[in-house]
Amino acid sequence: MRDLSAAIRTIPDFPAPGIQFRDITTLLLDGAAFGACIEQLAAVVGEDFNLVAGIEARGFVFAAALAHSLGKGVLLLRKRNKLPGATLGVNYALEYGQDRIEMHADAVAPGTRVLLVDDLIATGGTAKAGAALIRQAGGVVVRAAFVIDLPDLGGADALRADGVEVVALVA
Ligand code: 5GP
Repeated sequence: MRDLSAAIRTIPDFPAPGIQFRDITTLLLDGAAFGACIEQLAAVVGEDFNLVAGIEARGFVFAAALAHSLGKGVLLLRKRNKLPGATLGVNYALEYGQDRIEMHADAVAPGTRVLLVDDLIATGGTAKAGAALIRQAGGVVVRAAFVIDLPDLGGADALRADGVEVVALVA
């Protein structure tokens, strides 16, 4: 199996001094690596869901490609004030301040089974907000999939404690 970590670069001191940013744009630029990434995700996420939810913005890229490869639909979880229809939203804490994630209120029928996807899980705050939002809309979060997990930051464990199964390709 191809090791995807070689296609992901680390940029020091972005977006703030001391942060080692894992940059997946190099993975996306490499067609073979991106294809292998989607195949590897498809192999571990199962098929027991109807929709793949992507978190804006990098999560959209992986969610859309994965959903297409599995024949599933895509649910967009967006930053505040981007969606045109009536929305539901969840606020979540950032290191400094707050953010909000939203989805269309009518996007999922009650009981719809959803796979949550993002490029990376760090503290888990973003993914937990995404899971809470899907549940608020009546959906069932079947599991969450990430290209990269930063296990030292505890996000995957926090998400599991929240009742969500977690899979990731690269640590
Ligand atoms: P968390 O909420 O788990 O602390 O942070 C994860 C969110 O922030 C994800 O939406 C992810 O895209 C973004 N993020 C945080 N750190 C990084 C990083 O080093 N690389 C990338 N690509 N995204 C990051």
